[in-house]
Amino acid sequence: MLIALSGQSTTEEINYLVNRLLQQHLNPQIYQIDGKSVITVSNDSNLSELMALEAMNCVEKVIPIAKPYKLVSREYLPNNSVIKIGSIEIGSGNLQVIAGPCAVESREQIIETAIAVKKAGATILRGGAYKPRTSPYSFQGLGETGLVFLAEARKVTGLPVITEVMDIHHLDTVCKYTDILQIGSRNMQNYSLLKELAAINKPVMLKRGLAATLEEWLLAAEYLMAGGNSKIILCERGIRTFETYTRNTLDLSAIPAIKELSHLPIFIDPSHGTGKWKFVKPMAMAAAAAGADGLMIEVHPLPSEAYSDGEQSLTFNNFNILMKDLKIIGKMERG
Ligand code: PEP
Ligand code: MN
Repeated sequence: MLIALSGQSTTEEINYLVNRLLQQHLNPQIYQIDGKSVITVSNDSNLSELMALEAMNCVEKVIPIAKPYKLVSREYLPNNSVIKIGSIEIGSGNLQVIAGPCAVESREQIIETAIAVKKAGATILRGGAYKPRTSPYSFQGLGETGLVFLAEARKVTGLPVITEVMDIHHLDTVCKYTDILQIGSRNMQNYSLLKELAAINKPVMLKRGLAATLEEWLLAAEYLMAGGNSKIILCERGIRTFETYTRNTLDLSAIPAIKELSHLPIFIDPSHGTGKWKFVKPMAMAAAAAGADGLMIEVHPLPSEAYSDGEQSLTFNNFNILMKDLKIIGKMERG
């Protein structure tokens, strides 16, 4: 249950309401979301009594939500959330494409890629500087040097950038250089990290955990929103199943499911979702057709020489072909 407070509520009125809810053992928690005050209550059993609160001056609306996540639910905000990054709008109907290498490897590599993906029509540049690698012996990323190169590529192309923050200790450094913060699959349930990012005024892309249900994923997003950050982009990147032919099993049904359950935009990452560059285009096309708000695609100047994820990275030429074919299916101009 959510109680949305009216903009004119006085402190006395809010205190009175909170005390009343406390007396009923409803564990009220008050949140500020986009300048509005919202109270969540943990126990929905007294529905008619709670609905009667709408008669109070300070209450705009009582919204019954049976699901464990509240603020990210469609019931709370029936309209799609739109996130603005410069002139780009995420969630407003146009397919946005994030493209770039798995990892920033050098100044030349990221700038060359940024120029190529921009020319092909990508709207956001990606590149990892802190890499979550399964093996400690694999390339771990260039760290802050990689972020400096990424920011240079932004300057050259004007593309906003996204990069992963793996650790609370890197947060200030990563924030200095990036426009969107990425929470990787392995950190989806790192609640300390989520709480820190909730307090930051930058959009966050929350990738689905490799074994997370939709409910667990939305509850992770709820941590961000309850902590005050409503600029959340969800990204499906494949989940673990018994199938091993592909790196992960890309769950495209997450697109309509998330659209039903939540107002948040959803992206699809067919690169990590399949692990095979040849499968990236068909899955990207399917995602666009199914109503994804955007795509995240790994692109490398020379995939065979990539320090990480070369097998799932598109060449500039293949990325160009994908972008052209996405236009043909008409998904670039969805209104
Ligand atoms: C990435 O996008 O660089 C990445 C590591 O993805 P994921 O967290 O989905 O594995
Ligand atoms: Mn990768």
